[in-house]
Amino acid sequence: MDTKVGVYICSGCDIAKAIDVESLAEKTKSETNVPVCKVNEFLCGEKAIAEIKEDIKNEELNRVVIAACSQRVKTNEFNFEDTPEVLVERTNIREHCAWVQKPEDEDTQMMAEDYLRMGVSRAQHAAPPEANIEEISKTIMVVGGGTSGLNSALQAADAGYDVILVEKEEELGGWARKFKKTFPLNPPYRELEDSGYQELVQKVNDHDKIKVYTSTTIKKSKGQPGQLDVTLQNGGAPEDIRVGSIVMATGWKPYDPEKLGYLGYGKCENVVTNVQMEEMAMKDDFKRPSDGKEPESIAFIQCAGSRDKDHLPYCSTVCCRVSLKQAMYLREKYPNAKIFIIYKDIRTPAQFEMFYARVQEDENIFFTKGEVVEVAEDSDKGVLIDVDETLLGEKIQVKADMLVLASGMVPTTRVEGAVGFLDEGGEAFGPPKTADGDKPEEKAEEPEEGEKKAAAGAEKGAKILNLSYRQGTDLPTLKYGFPDSHYICFPYETRRTAIYAAGCVRAPMDSYQAQHDASGAALKAIQAMEALSVGKAVHPRAGDLSFPDFFLQRCTQCKRCTEECPFGSLDEDDKGTPKPNFFRCRRCGICLGSCPERIISFKNYSVPIGSHMIRSIEIPEEIEEKPRVLVFICENDALPSFDIAGLKRLQYSPYIRLIPVRCLGALNTVWIADALSAGFDGILLIGCKPGENYQCHFVRGSQLAEYRMGNVKEKLKQLVLEEERVRIEHLALTDYDKIPGIIEDFMEEIDTVGPNPYKDF
Ligand code: SF4
Ligand code: SF4
Repeated sequence: MDTKVGVYICSGCDIAKAIDVESLAEKTKSETNVPVCKVNEFLCGEKAIAEIKEDIKNEELNRVVIAACSQRVKTNEFNFEDTPEVLVERTNIREHCAWVQKPEDEDTQMMAEDYLRMGVSRAQHAAPPEANIEEISKTIMVVGGGTSGLNSALQAADAGYDVILVEKEEELGGWARKFKKTFPLNPPYRELEDSGYQELVQKVNDHDKIKVYTSTTIKKSKGQPGQLDVTLQNGGAPEDIRVGSIVMATGWKPYDPEKLGYLGYGKCENVVTNVQMEEMAMKDDFKRPSDGKEPESIAFIQCAGSRDKDHLPYCSTVCCRVSLKQAMYLREKYPNAKIFIIYKDIRTPAQFEMFYARVQEDENIFFTKGEVVEVAEDSDKGVLIDVDETLLGEKIQVKADMLVLASGMVPTTRVEGAVGFLDEGGEAFGPPKTADGDKPEEKAEEPEEGEKKAAAGAEKGAKILNLSYRQGTDLPTLKYGFPDSHYICFPYETRRTAIYAAGCVRAPMDSYQAQHDASGAALKAIQAMEALSVGKAVHPRAGDLSFPDFFLQRCTQCKRCTEECPFGSLDEDDKGTPKPNFFRCRRCGICLGSCPERIISFKNYSVPIGSHMIRSIEIPEEIEEKPRVLVFICENDALPSFDIAGLKRLQYSPYIRLIPVRCLGALNTVWIADALSAGFDGILLIGCKPGENYQCHFVRGSQLAEYRMGNVKEKLKQLVLEEERVRIEHLALTDYDKIPGIIEDFMEEIDTVGPNPYKDF
């Protein structure tokens, strides 16, 4: 179908103060032959929008280029939803040009002209995405019947969705069932409370939209979101169910106390953990393990193994309140007992400070800040605790009949010895095998060492959901075993679409937080199913209707896309041909970046679209001394960061041209070759930070871009071009003030290496 493009240029928001918009419109019209090209001083106003709608109808436009502000603003105004066959292309001449360049300057005008040509080119070569709609299940499976799972199930069921609740133990209730009391969760935050789990369990059991399976595990989960076929195993014959999304609320387990020998565990008979103390409380029996004597003095060591780089570097958030609670159990039982709480810091956030104050009122409870240097046993099996760096600077020794170690929690997804994603300095997945744009000579290479490790990790990983993903059976985890997708921007996501972790399997938290977390996960599970049912992507490209299309006739079965997809969306057949699971796909475009055959494309994002945009930029001749640098910016952080730089009116070189990409991993390196052969003097790639504390919104896209750079540099050498012509930079959203410096620095580099020798060819 022929494209009919209408171009609308805004002259408001100071755009016309910097750019001659009339001349821009003239030039665009004459160069691109678009049937409609208009200037409006208030393009997002009702009148202008109505005029665009009229033009769409009367001129039969099927592409609309809005040359105005950032694509991130005025999204409602420039959304012509009632005409889904019309593709809207946003060209940012405000934040990326008028606001950051010298007004009424030749170079500013040239920049705006290039952006218009790029916008029209993109509009001409892209097409509106069409939704992929299939029948899906809207039943939610909640795995885990503790506080988080019970609350998630109830929330989803109350919202009208069918829920299947799977619990491996005989009874629902989780840890709450095994605890005598909980610390106060209600004002005035002074007295211990019942957890109330029995009522919660009752509500779940009575709910007509919840089906409960206890003593049940998951044998297998096949398929994709919306069409997940799960086989349940509960002693008898396996049972098959179909669900749409999953809330994984399998909770926590205690940190392995065998690793706490340095605090006396396993060496001194009367050293127990906080979980063992809770078991004693349930039996109302606190006698010493060594001799059955009622204790007269009990010590607690806080952060036992927590906030310790050799054990659990994080804080489990509840251990301080648990020790305060257990101190109250003991004081109630033994009115004369002395309690010693040895801490690095007592952490009782928000209103829980009132509970801390309440416990401090007890004259028999002593708090001592310090570092435990040694724990030993005396001749009558008492525990001797040497504490240094106390508040008075003195070393002290605490002697107690018993010692309780306030140890932390680890997620049930953590498996000792398994390799978490980005574990050990970010190398668990190893360097990808590809990166270039080159035709692979062989079908598949031997896996790299890191990949073997990852595969081994997946083998050894948790086997809870038993998913059929080529990358492993369960949710991929980070270093400490928590499932994660992006810890800063969307901590609630996992890397398995429509599977959400809730409660302590996601992060350490108390039961109060877990209830909220459970509601959040239930909502996300509902959102995911509703989005999938209309063919829309979930986070972070929520609502995106595009999906990757594979021209498989030209596939060489190199397996690069299947290996590099961070979301496990691509299975393979026996020969290695990708078999997409569209409902798993997050539309990151990393497969497009990986494919050396360039056969993966989206309707509105493809290798040809990028190449056409690059070639629509005018390259001045060398004699004009106006270098050109192409800057690929990641749409997740770098693009908004450039927008903020625009808002702050930070000025930078007029010789750069920005092209937004879905992720640096979604950049096919053929674009770099195209740009160099078109005469660009330099190419800058700006994306999110890779590595262990990664900020890449598609998990490993910027890491993949780094690896691909190796091949790019090789290619530059072959072309006898300086490798300094291509550079990667990392930019967080808040780093907008660094943008002028980054550009300046690169422009200086390009000035040093000189013009691209292919420029005037
Ligand atoms: S777009 Fe991203 S999530 Fe989808 S198949 Fe490609 S690499 Fe995987
Ligand atoms: S589609 Fe995937 S397997 Fe096929 S050539 Fe491209 S990257 Fe390789």
